[in-house]
Amino acid sequence: MLVKIIFLFLLAMVLVALIGRAFFPSALPRVMQKRSGPPRCGKCGRYLIGQKTCDCGGKAK
Ligand SMILES: [Zn+2]
Repeated sequence: MLVKIIFLFLLAMVLVALIGRAFFPSALPRVMQKRSGPPRCGKCGRYLIGQKTCDCGGKAK
């Protein structure tokens, strides 16, 4: 009986995590978020399309 309760509890936690991730992706910490968009300069933040280094001397992240 106790094992059943623990199993149900774990299942509920997994469900909450999945639902939370599906509905509130921005609530996740930055480390867990997927990087999106084109690469940007690590120094000035300019978009670097087709190049690895920026005019300001910075490098793409
Ligand atoms: Zn730059």
